[in-house]
Amino acid sequence: MANANVRVRFCPSPTGNPHVGLVRTALFNWAFARHNGGTMVFRIEDTDAARDSEESYRQLLDSLRWLGLDWDEGPEAGGPHAPYRQSERMDIYREIAEKLLAGGYAYHCYCSAQELEARRDAARAAGRPSGYDGHCRELTDEQVAAYRAEGRPAIVRFRMPDETITFTDLVRGELTFTPENVPDYGIVRANGAPLYTLVNPVDDALMEITHVLRGEDLLSSTPRQVALYKALIELGIAKEIPAFGHLPYVMGEGNKKLSKRDPEASLNLYRERGFLPEGLLNYLSLLGWSFSADQDVFSVAELIEKFDIADVNANPARFDLKKAEAINADHIRRLDVETFTQACAPWLRAPFANWAPEGFDTAAWEAIAPHAQTRLTVLSDITANVDFLFLEAPVEDEASWAKAMKPGADALLITAREKLEAANWHSADSLKEAVLAAGEAHGLKLGKAQAPVRVAVTGRTVGLPLFESLEILGREKTLARIDAALAKLAG
Ligand code: GLU
Ligand code: ZN
Repeated sequence: MANANVRVRFCPSPTGNPHVGLVRTALFNWAFARHNGGTMVFRIEDTDAARDSEESYRQLLDSLRWLGLDWDEGPEAGGPHAPYRQSERMDIYREIAEKLLAGGYAYHCYCSAQELEARRDAARAAGRPSGYDGHCRELTDEQVAAYRAEGRPAIVRFRMPDETITFTDLVRGELTFTPENVPDYGIVRANGAPLYTLVNPVDDALMEITHVLRGEDLLSSTPRQVALYKALIELGIAKEIPAFGHLPYVMGEGNKKLSKRDPEASLNLYRERGFLPEGLLNYLSLLGWSFSADQDVFSVAELIEKFDIADVNANPARFDLKKAEAINADHIRRLDVETFTQACAPWLRAPFANWAPEGFDTAAWEAIAPHAQTRLTVLSDITANVDFLFLEAPVEDEASWAKAMKPGADALLITAREKLEAANWHSADSLKEAVLAAGEAHGLKLGKAQAPVRVAVTGRTVGLPLFESLEILGREKTLARIDAALAKLAG
């Protein structure tokens, strides 16, 4: 059932390069918002000046735009809850921290790091829960005055209610946390800097977020946030507690959790290899969700139509590069030829402009493109598939040469050249007949006969359909390349 009141948020911290896990979270939020006709809020959680960078912020925006994941409120879009960068909202957090303190929902904690550690170790040794022990919960005025007189710095700590916290996770069902497992926690540093634990739920409340969909790694912060939310509601700052849904972990190689530092987790890698945005989105949407039992290739429109958070699976998802590539290949085939030829441009014009200074042969490209489109898994593969058309001479690939240019290859090439010279160059079939006939003359089947021709002309043992390739390259260049190969064999 569509629900236009849905307000979700994507709220990354601008650190490092965008990675697969991050994009999956953005995608599920976006698909859920779009499915419901709701609102996608994009918020930047940049309160950690030491780790956040402007470069990372730019990359985040650029990546979302490339993927087509748009936002209704957020940086550059604006909106009723602006600003959407937390670094510009510090006054708001300060004020709310004051209100929490004044209302008794939070208190100053004067414990030093060493004291906390010593008590934690003692609790562990005694087999007691090792979280914060509530030492500063009920300090008397005299104790506070004494700590102040010592010049002790104080953090602000949130007072967890002494009650069990239960909520219904949209993915995992009902979850219960007992008080001993959720101790009081810091929300403002001694230097006054507010922490994620405060600013994240505060902004969710102020921005009227209805559904918090995020990675399973954040599950442990949810009972704390639920308690903080209750305080914000009592203070008249929040309206109601949002629904939470925790998306499953993504596992990489060797069934280890995919880490944002793993090279295969980098979004830029897929972009540089020439994944289509819609191919990558299709694949990433399958990390924890499925479209249907018998269909895993679909359009973005179909994804939006079908996506529901209730169908997300709690089990860890496995990142499968082969499957991602196969799905991308399907999306490449779905493009109309015009779009395909344009999408390849970054992998064509730049490299070949250098190699063939006289300019890019657009006619040859348009002729070969349909043959390439059905065979690529990623767009960057286009370069090696068509370079024979645009380079002065074919690439030198020693392995291919050694494989195809066995003894007897020269004799075959001489015959093939003769037959090709006499063939009809407006027909790929006629060129095939020529190579077939040359093979017969030397007792070779077509496959064996065409290998030396392919390597002489394209430089490689594998590539696009050979006879169409020869036709597009043309008679003159083909014969000259066979001559050059024969000279090399003779040399
Ligand atoms: N800024 C947090 C992060 O990137 C957001 C977590 C959340 O969705 O609550 O981990
Ligand atoms: Zn304390």
